[in-house]
Amino acid sequence: MIQEFTEKKAELILGGNVKIPKGFDVGVRVSRSTAGPGAGNPSVVFAFGGCRVKKAISYDDGEFDLVERDKRLSLYRGGSPFLDDVRIQPVAFHCPEQAFFNLDQRCIYHCVYCNSPFLGRDTWKDLNDDKILADIASMPGVVCAVALTSGVFGSVGETVGRMVSCIRKIRAAYPDMPVGVEPYVDDRKQIDSLREAGATEIKINCEAATSEVFSKVCPDLDYGNIFKMLAYAVEVFGKGHVASNLIYGFGEDNADVIARMEMLAKMGVAPGLRALKINPCNRRRIEDAVGTVEPNTPERVLSLAKEQKRIMAEYGIDTRTFRTMCFECTCCDIVPFRDI
Ligand code: SF4
Ligand code: SF4
Repeated sequence: MIQEFTEKKAELILGGNVKIPKGFDVGVRVSRSTAGPGAGNPSVVFAFGGCRVKKAISYDDGEFDLVERDKRLSLYRGGSPFLDDVRIQPVAFHCPEQAFFNLDQRCIYHCVYCNSPFLGRDTWKDLNDDKILADIASMPGVVCAVALTSGVFGSVGETVGRMVSCIRKIRAAYPDMPVGVEPYVDDRKQIDSLREAGATEIKINCEAATSEVFSKVCPDLDYGNIFKMLAYAVEVFGKGHVASNLIYGFGEDNADVIARMEMLAKMGVAPGLRALKINPCNRRRIEDAVGTVEPNTPERVLSLAKEQKRIMAEYGIDTRTFRTMCFECTCCDIVPFRDI
């Protein structure tokens, strides 16, 4: 049964929108992310069989249909039953139980898959430290952890400085709150300053499985330096509190993904996997960079997640030591030790 739910989750992760019946009230605050794979779309979290997945919703069209009968919700695909008992789970900010903020959607860099800098002003949330504190305070007992990400605006140092300021205020108001950060860093001192301000977990993304792919999809970033930053982050934050996401689906082999995960795990870094999703906003940029790519399949998602779990277990790494960000949220990936 667990296997069946995990397979459905893999299909949902890669699939299209969920169509909501006209007039149906989702009953929870709709998330409008400015980062992550659903950036820009209204979305809600669907929970089923111990899994949860965040899906873009639409009243007009979708690959999946939400159907309500006798107060029970189910999902259909192509007119056939897909999942017969789903729940809509509330989000705090961006994801369940966490307040996850994107401090700045603008970015001086040009990663080809990233839609964040292209979102319209209507999704821009004009966040500042006081608004973030007020948002957290508005959900007492709901927000169990805080996480911060940001596009790089101005310089890397200035962007980290804004994160540091925000962490200090959160830490002063909530001494015991887990605080995760997902910055782009290019200097060890930035990692020290994030830890000293009170961050408890850090995710520094290596983004791609190979340097060849990386140079095409993140042309402005420094692949080699990211691994230096990760090694130092393990010294500062400790094993079990440092993660790195890599996106697959740019034409690399599974062997490339597995080798990169092994390299990260050997360093004490938890490898996070994210299946590339191509959408109308990023398609052209991705195809210009790497050519036409085979779309990811649910089978690939599941088999790489199993490899990810095997590698983590081999190096004594577990997603359950993380209290913030994507390992804790689980909405966009098959997460080892939580979903499988
Ligand atoms: S560094 Fe790359 S992935 Fe991060 S916000 Fe900027 S463009 Fe997007
Ligand atoms: S898994 Fe990560 S990107 Fe996806 S909704 Fe959760 S926190 Fe956001």
